Amino acid sequence: MTYATINPYTNEVLANFPEATDAEVKDAITAAHGAFLFWRETSFAERAAVLQKAANLLRQNADDHARLLTLEMGKLISEARAEVELSAKILEYYVKYAEKLLQPERLPVADPAEGEAVLVAEPLGVLLAIEPWNFPYYQIARILAPQLSAGNTLLLKHASNVPQCAANFERLMRQAGLPDGAFTNLYATRAQVEMIINDPRVHGVALTGSEDAGAVVAAQAGRALKKSTMELGGSDAFIVLADADLAKTVKWAVFGRHWNGGQVCVSSKRMIIVDEVYDEFLNRYRHGVAALVAGDPFDAATTLAPLSSQKAADDIRDKIREAVALGAHAEEVGPPVPNRGAFVQPTILTELADDNPARYWEFFGPVSMLFRARDEEDAIRIANDSPFGLGGSVFTGNPRHGAEVAKRISTGMVFVNHPTKVEADLPFGGIRRSGYGRELLGLGLKEFVNHKLIDIV
Ligand code: NAP
Repeated sequence: MTYATINPYTNEVLANFPEATDAEVKDAITAAHGAFLFWRETSFAERAAVLQKAANLLRQNADDHARLLTLEMGKLISEARAEVELSAKILEYYVKYAEKLLQPERLPVADPAEGEAVLVAEPLGVLLAIEPWNFPYYQIARILAPQLSAGNTLLLKHASNVPQCAANFERLMRQAGLPDGAFTNLYATRAQVEMIINDPRVHGVALTGSEDAGAVVAAQAGRALKKSTMELGGSDAFIVLADADLAKTVKWAVFGRHWNGGQVCVSSKRMIIVDEVYDEFLNRYRHGVAALVAGDPFDAATTLAPLSSQKAADDIRDKIREAVALGAHAEEVGPPVPNRGAFVQPTILTELADDNPARYWEFFGPVSMLFRARDEEDAIRIANDSPFGLGGSVFTGNPRHGAEVAKRISTGMVFVNHPTKVEADLPFGGIRRSGYGRELLGLGLKEFVNHKLIDIV
């Protein structure tokens, strides 16, 4: 686990960053706790002023921020700009709504003459955020904005391949007027993560990442009896019903599977198409994927980014080979991707039999699994036959009917006629092996607060 900036388009190592020392980690916890004692006393208006300033700074320097995202993890520059704007919008969501969402709640009591009961939301203290590289800024904004608004303070352990993004966000928050210690980036080791979780001044951990990391960190939090939220992997179903507008549906399918280089927890990873339109969908989808242009993510003409690292690309190629060895059919699509950089040839996997374990895997890159469903009922069955439960979508000419189908998909989020999307004003989270807890909106804001009862008799 070495913290380094490596350009995935060239595989050039641009900078290395030393891991934190144990003393630095201990000092950061002390500073975060000290900041909490001050920050919890601030008004919503004071917290909002800092978040608004941070949103303004993000927008003022949007191009510089976007360039850093693209440099460190390889996403398309247009997508990096959109991520910077989305991060600013998340900060602003809490500027506008945090106070309203955290108002004390007077509870209905049987006999008002006997007194009143009120629930107040009080911050818990220092929290640890462990974040992945696929949206280096958005992932920070998603935890930072609600938790600072609630009065908590944060330590960040970001992914080891986006060290400059992490440091930049910390700097930005300082420039926005956040007190020292209230948000600290640490180039922490695994052992230090556990040390932080075990410190009595730390009261919770929020992790976004793989199932493996989630299982380790959730167990550490459990042993320390600390609250945790887990935003883990996914393999979203993309159901296509017979009455769907195929031209639009295929456009969304290509986008849903390939944006961010195909490295989104809510990418449309499993296309489930009813028999009547399967062949036509596959044909159109193949053409849509073949039209993607792989290349330099800084070039506006590029539509397919490299993966985040050479290791990620090698791992996914191994996984494709394994799926084929287990009986799947793999079809490479489109002109050859560049032979330098962390590229993977877009691949369509079909014939994933019921007993092929690969159908349950998460492919974190440009690999599409296609399933032929007998009918709508069968499509719902296949969609729910997954260890994950993050997002999903249903494409149909009848959106009301789509909403009925959506109710039968067992995930945290379902979209009708759109791939699963992320917005500042929509909640995010899943069930089963996709994790637990929710981020964003009031749900995220209340994950790490003490819902304290005050009963006046
Ligand atoms: P990952 O390896 O789990 O890394 C995520 C973060 O966890 C990184 O900061 C990583 O640090 C850290 N980490 C990993 N193992 C750890 C351990 N044992 N103890 C402490 N920290 C640990 O995830 P990834 O494979 O890079 O990211 C992709 C995964 O994240 C996919 O499964 C994707 O679906 C999921 N994801 C989920 C969401 C969501 O909201 N549900 C959003 C985005 C991504 P290092 O970099 O130093 O290893």
